[in-house]
Amino acid sequence: MIDGYCCVCCALPRNLIQHLADQSTGSERELLHAQIDHAARLRGQRAALSKQRPAAAVGRQPLHRQVFDAQGNILLPGKLLRDEDDPPTRDVHADQTYENVGIALQFYKTVLGRDSMDGHGLRVDASVHYGNRFANAMWTGKQMIVGDGDGRHVTGLAKSLGIIAHEFSHGITQHLVKGGLGVVQMPGRMPELKGEAGALNESFSDVFASMIKQWHAGQTVREADWLLGEDILAPHTGKAVRSLKDPGNARLTWPEDDQIKSFTRFSPTDDAHRASGIANHAFYVTATVLGGKSWEKLAAVWFKAFDRLRARATFLDAAHATMDVAAALHGNRSAAHAAVKAGWKTVKVLA
Ligand SMILES: [Zn+2]
Repeated sequence: MIDGYCCVCCALPRNLIQHLADQSTGSERELLHAQIDHAARLRGQRAALSKQRPAAAVGRQPLHRQVFDAQGNILLPGKLLRDEDDPPTRDVHADQTYENVGIALQFYKTVLGRDSMDGHGLRVDASVHYGNRFANAMWTGKQMIVGDGDGRHVTGLAKSLGIIAHEFSHGITQHLVKGGLGVVQMPGRMPELKGEAGALNESFSDVFASMIKQWHAGQTVREADWLLGEDILAPHTGKAVRSLKDPGNARLTWPEDDQIKSFTRFSPTDDAHRASGIANHAFYVTATVLGGKSWEKLAAVWFKAFDRLRARATFLDAAHATMDVAAALHGNRSAAHAAVKAGWKTVKVLA
């Protein structure tokens, strides 16, 4: 256990899987309903997770990835398929996961000087072929799970850099914020991401996944699509899971996308994936006001700001932290500082 908590963070929100189940009949519908129940149960599955091998010694290798084959079971991590520097396995899910985890690791290392999730070269483990056609990807608190997809609505989670980078970034947040950003453990219940801090946790993963996609493609903020999961949904399901450019715009994403992009619509009971749209859009506005390549100035601003947040941080705390860091790095009359302020004003976190 890292930092004493375990939180299952899914890439696809529960309401999207529910929507897919509603669109299905017979055994497909049953499969998706079973997966919704399973995702909830997984949050408590610490016993199976503890069978994982210990992580590598600090600083042993510059990158250390291990990809496992869960072989259709739910016992993690499964059989080791590919270790760092091993040749491709010819298992396409395993090789795509290995490559995309590598891109995320390289981004944090190259752009931020961050050596893996913990800053000390922690080995990153991921399991593929988890359960029966599992239509989601997750960070469990100890490792990544990359589902095969149900083959009809959701496919190719492993090939989606955005999805893998999102889950990877949950591992980063876990190490940045002591006690877990927005992780709430109610007595007798499983840990969940709640409130403003939970939404900030989800947003950090979306924001960094967007920067990682753009960095890998060498795109400017104008060239980027600002979508997440644009490469995993079947055409009849939707176009993407989320948009940072226009959160909740179902024409850009999927029919029942209910993300919000203004703090005026926030309710403390909102799902973290819904309310994350507020901070996602603040970042999008900041990046487009500033122009150029999103990660060049803003990766450090967002990263260092989240490093200052406490477990129960609010959107206003995040606004102040990002503005303070932008001022410290670039000056309080800088374009970066003004852009950050414009971002949080647009989403009504700042008046
Ligand atoms: Zn997430």
